[in-house]
Amino acid sequence: MALGALARRIPKIYLHCHLEGTLRPATFVELAAKHGVGLRYRPEGDTGSPGDPADPYRFEGMGEFLYLFAAVSRSLREPSDYARLAAEFVDDALAQGVIYGELFVSPPVWSFFNPSLDVRLTMEAIASELRRARPRAIFRLLPDLTRNFGEARAMETARAMATMTDLDVVGVSLGGDEVRFPARLFVEPFAYARSQGLHCVAHAGEVGGAASVRDAVELLGAERIGHGIRALDDPRTVEVLVSRGTPLEICPTSNRLTGAVLTDHPHPYVDFDRLGCVVTIDSDDPALFHTSIAREYELVESTAGPGALERYVRNAIEATFAQPIEKQVMRAQLDEAVAELHERSSS
Ligand SMILES: [Zn+2]
Repeated sequence: MALGALARRIPKIYLHCHLEGTLRPATFVELAAKHGVGLRYRPEGDTGSPGDPADPYRFEGMGEFLYLFAAVSRSLREPSDYARLAAEFVDDALAQGVIYGELFVSPPVWSFFNPSLDVRLTMEAIASELRRARPRAIFRLLPDLTRNFGEARAMETARAMATMTDLDVVGVSLGGDEVRFPARLFVEPFAYARSQGLHCVAHAGEVGGAASVRDAVELLGAERIGHGIRALDDPRTVEVLVSRGTPLEICPTSNRLTGAVLTDHPHPYVDFDRLGCVVTIDSDDPALFHTSIAREYELVESTAGPGALERYVRNAIEATFAQPIEKQVMRAQLDEAVAELHERSSS
């Protein structure tokens, strides 16, 4: 089998992808102009570099990346902007062979930049565009409670999102500054979400240490961990992940660009895999990181081999919050793609 062949053909699953982070660069430039906002954001005001319309997604390190994500979020101001974001996302996902996705969206960030935004209307606009992908792909939503706005705001968001299960909300997620806003602040919003039948996932161990990962699992009941890289610093935390079978959503390019993983070291997903953790692969904010889920799969296939890539995609199917029948269909699609490739390479 030619290297890269599996990555091209294998069905793809999004478990760690921020919808806002898929905004095409040209659309970002267009929306920013439409709303009269800059391509760069600083909390103290638009000072310094105006940003380059030819390459608006240039940044260095985690701090600048978070400001870039903020700038992108600020360019999205109306439900119709979010509808366009979702429509273009669907086109790009289907073109890559994505069959299923649970996507992060960040309503607290939307409202921060546009307090008068009607969040339910915006969620409706997104959900209705995502549903156009059916039956080729199913997309659901995991709204982010966003650490940086604190516990009370997180609780408000959890309450609002629990009323939006009709808009394909299946759970809540937690992103943002994990050092200044640790897991223990969000125990109540997560307990509330769980009591409403929502699934719980959290970013952890991207910037924070192993304890941040353990707290996300043990205090918040996170069913999957975004990144989790720093768990490797503590064998007891790895043991918790292995014994609970908590999947890790690993995003190789993102981890290098934000500094979560050093560029001159092999990416530690192979270590997690070897230690018995459930590894899955994703793209995080693919447009902002100049990558795509297809590209991340290719990277993994060329580094760890087709067998590892196939295992990680199987892990991803099992790690979804899809119905048993949907998982069965996904397994069959994956088996078919793998069998076809083997036939082709042996004929
Ligand atoms: Zn993320």
